[in-house]
Amino acid sequence: MKLVMLGPPGAGKGTQARRLQDSRNLVQLSTGDMLRKAVAEATEYGIKAAAAMKAGELVSDEIVIATISERLDQPDLANGFILDGFPRNLEQAEALDAMLEAKGLVLDAVIDIAVVDDVLVDRVSGRYTCAKCGKGYHDTMEKPATDGVCDKCGSTEFKRRADDNAETVRNRLEVYHAETAPLQDYYRSKGKLKSVDGMADIDDVTRQIEEELDAA
Ligand code: ADP
Ligand code: ADP
Ligand code: ZN
Repeated sequence: MKLVMLGPPGAGKGTQARRLQDSRNLVQLSTGDMLRKAVAEATEYGIKAAAAMKAGELVSDEIVIATISERLDQPDLANGFILDGFPRNLEQAEALDAMLEAKGLVLDAVIDIAVVDDVLVDRVSGRYTCAKCGKGYHDTMEKPATDGVCDKCGSTEFKRRADDNAETVRNRLEVYHAETAPLQDYYRSKGKLKSVDGMADIDDVTRQIEEELDAA
């Protein structure tokens, strides 16, 4: 399956993509993770992307499209993938269509996770991940069973993103509404859009997505 996860920052795209990765043997492709790695390694793209990420603005289409295009050629994606955080504007969506067509691939569905703005700042400000395995947590909404110990791998080290502060999140939300939300109409008109209620609890959202995919 070839899927896109759409939704504002904090909607649960990464959380749900990681679950689908395990349940359907797909590969999660997060442009945010790829860009953070490039920044940490101070590659040419990373150096160019850092300021926009810190401010909660979009990184240039050129960098993001080149990053995804190279990644889509890797052999580990044969069983399918979940794009998480890409595309984020119309130019990227059109570039993705062209890339997939050139590779003879077709998108199965675009999962749109709907969450109201009010709760997103809380979700993002309370978010952290296991430093070792990447499992996501939240200060109040998704805590490990034992305080300070990762459920999945037992690590006691966790990390928070520098851009997950209230001020930057508000800017990222504005960018989402201006640039990314129009993709709902774009994919609806192509018959690909599957909307789920992202206000429900995490397991319930997973069930909604699995139902949509079984019907797709
Ligand atoms: P995104 O990838 O869309 O930015 P995440 O998957 O990282 O969002 O989720 C943001 C935060 O909200 C995480 O801390 C996660 O544990 C929590 N979260 C995700 N889905 C839900 C949900 N349905 N209800 C409550 N909290 C959630
Ligand atoms: P979230 O889902 O919480 O908004 P991401 O990890 O997807 O966070 O993205 C973090 C930052 O990385 C964005 O604010 C933006 O600066 C950059 N970024 C990620 N994906 C893209 C993209 N497709 N186009 C442009 N910038 C991107
Ligand atoms: Zn872990």
